[in-house]
Amino acid sequence: MKNLRDFTLLVEALTMDDTGDTAFDRFQQVPTCPALAVVDSQNRPIGMIERNTFLLSLGGNFGRAVFARRSVSLLMTPVTVVGEAEADAADFAETALSQHSHDLLRGFIIVDQGAYFGIGSIVDLLRAATLERTDNAKQLRSMARDLRRSNRALERQRLLAEAVIEHIPSLIAVRHQSNGHVRLINRAGAAMLGISRDGVIGHKVEEQVSRGFARQIRRTDAIMAHHGSTQPLDVGIVAKGRERRILRVMNIPISMPNDDDNLELTIAEDVTEVRKASSRIQELAHFDMLTGLPNRIQLHNRLSEMLEASPSRAQREVAVIAIDLDRFKMVNDTFGHHAGDAVLREMAKRLRSTLRETDLPVRLGGDEFAVVIEAPQAESLAEKISERLIATMKDPFQLGDKVVHLGGSIGIAVFPTDCQDAGDLIKFADLALYRAKADGKGRWRRFSPDMREGLEQRNAMEVDLRCALALGQLEVHMQPQLDIANNRITGFECLMRWNHPTRGYVPPAVFIPIAEDIGLIDQLGEWILEEACRIGSTLDPSIAVAVNISALQFRLTGLVDSVKLALGKSGMDPRRLELEITESVLIHDEELVMASITELRALGVRIAIDDFGTGFASFVYLHRYAFDTIKIDRSFVNGLPDNRSSRAIISAVIVLGRQLGATITAEGVETEIQFATLKQLGCMQVQGYLIGRPTANPHKYLTDFNLIGKVA
Ligand code: C2E
Ligand code: MG
Ligand code: MG
Repeated sequence: MKNLRDFTLLVEALTMDDTGDTAFDRFQQVPTCPALAVVDSQNRPIGMIERNTFLLSLGGNFGRAVFARRSVSLLMTPVTVVGEAEADAADFAETALSQHSHDLLRGFIIVDQGAYFGIGSIVDLLRAATLERTDNAKQLRSMARDLRRSNRALERQRLLAEAVIEHIPSLIAVRHQSNGHVRLINRAGAAMLGISRDGVIGHKVEEQVSRGFARQIRRTDAIMAHHGSTQPLDVGIVAKGRERRILRVMNIPISMPNDDDNLELTIAEDVTEVRKASSRIQELAHFDMLTGLPNRIQLHNRLSEMLEASPSRAQREVAVIAIDLDRFKMVNDTFGHHAGDAVLREMAKRLRSTLRETDLPVRLGGDEFAVVIEAPQAESLAEKISERLIATMKDPFQLGDKVVHLGGSIGIAVFPTDCQDAGDLIKFADLALYRAKADGKGRWRRFSPDMREGLEQRNAMEVDLRCALALGQLEVHMQPQLDIANNRITGFECLMRWNHPTRGYVPPAVFIPIAEDIGLIDQLGEWILEEACRIGSTLDPSIAVAVNISALQFRLTGLVDSVKLALGKSGMDPRRLELEITESVLIHDEELVMASITELRALGVRIAIDDFGTGFASFVYLHRYAFDTIKIDRSFVNGLPDNRSSRAIISAVIVLGRQLGATITAEGVETEIQFATLKQLGCMQVQGYLIGRPTANPHKYLTDFNLIGKVA
């Protein structure tokens, strides 16, 4: 008897990196091979793929389309029967049959000293064995039984594969490559094409559909054949009496070893809904959801189209208008995001109605908008449009039963005058916008090259300001307030100072607006409240401290909580704390402001109206809010003693304030004559360089009586 080596089929093994495709090809190449081995990196067998199970369990040739690119590790089963090449073939057959008769039917693996050698087939072995050992008839009968059982199992697998094909919701069809006649089509496929299954088998699909549809099929087949690839192609089809659908089609040639004609498998999926969803996503990506205006992406696309695509348009001008609503943040902070959204939608409406059809309005985000204008004289057109936009933004915005006045600022940059590049055009328009805001808002500015420098400085300042608190660069300086009747210092106003290592003292008029812009004001506000109360608690209990509160800090919960915290930490009597608010706080949500003021008052804290007379708050507000202190702005004090209208206003405020029971403080008192006039008009308190400049050491004013004697 021979050994197993003589019965070995020398088929190359698969590795884990191989795919179903490779397995398929190898089975095709060696039609007698019952199984393929899968080996590890040291060529040791770790798994086996049996021929019939492989072909059938994947739905025959069709499965190739589905599993072709997946790793063979998904398809293999563990190795059960292994024979050494040197083993006696008859002995091996006998032992293996008694122990693994069923497994053996799948073929077995032959190794040479543990390494993969080849594949063995039990049928070959038995043929040899029966020649040598005729008494093996019993085993042969049992083999035959096993084979029949195995065939029944295979038949069940085949039925399963057919059922799977039948129920797959995609189109699956097999056509003869030579004449296009349909050999198989599943139910979903016939439904998708709107044809009868029975009618099409043995015929071309083209014969069963409308002429236009048939043309479409021929074109698709031609394109796919031309590219010779199995890459899917999206095809729009209109089946009889149906709406247009989009199919993603893939044609895969199948070579059949026992068939004289090659076949082609077509798989098609209905991707109409997927395509609809993706175009919706595309749309969302290019439009602003809130206002429906095009977004930043479209702005960039349009600009690159205009500036890069066609140099022949060199004659044309393109202008970008950058727009920012003034005081929008206040609307959001005070009235909530719903109100903010309503303003933005209204703004979009006004923008659209101001522009021409050909102008592109864009929402860039937040309260920033832009317009792209392309015209022979874009520059002058942009200026005209900006005028109109400024005017329309000045119109009041209606928020339910409330009305807010916002206004807006605008910056303009023009191609090719200002720059050659789309990115710069937007940046430069932004710089001009920034200048418009710095110049007092509610206006437009045209870009000029010096603006770039300003931006760099401001950026550097922002960066530094963010770490100023942590680096201990902020200080509190206190300016004394003198009570005229008693000739005594009765309080101090706390003023923030930024002592920058290279810039020196940066004035609050410069850095407070930046802190407001970059959302740092809450943090700074909390800090100065705590510092003021801490310093206050070291001073005589008769001395009050005043802290300036930014309009942005005036939020119901945040501010009241910070005040409570500062008072709690320092233990200072709340009646010694005065909060200075400006008139700009009052125009926004009155109820909210009133509620905060009421809550603060309930703690014992005093409220002062700062810079009175400079804003738009009328005397009506003095009645409504009943402030504890009214601070007359230094611009009025400046006019004393000669300016008659300053004098008239000051005396009116004093008379009214007295009636309301408020303390009247005059700010910015620099000369003795101003002091004397104020005293004569009945003013109660004064603050200014005459009394004392802001200082880091307030104690000196409380001990230095000479200074106070000077003004008495
Ligand atoms: P304000 O609250 O009206 O403060 C009074 C300003 O007038 C201070 O300027 C003060 O130094 C200045 N001043 C006082 N007496 C005289 C005088 O006799 N003549 C002249 N010409 N000026 C005088 P400062 O410190 O530069 O502050 C400017 C503004 O910055 C303040 O105006 C206030 O609105 C704001 N500010 C200062 N500190 C803070 C703070 O901690 N938080 C907030 N939100 N704002 C602050
Ligand atoms: Mg103040
Ligand atoms: Mg003031």
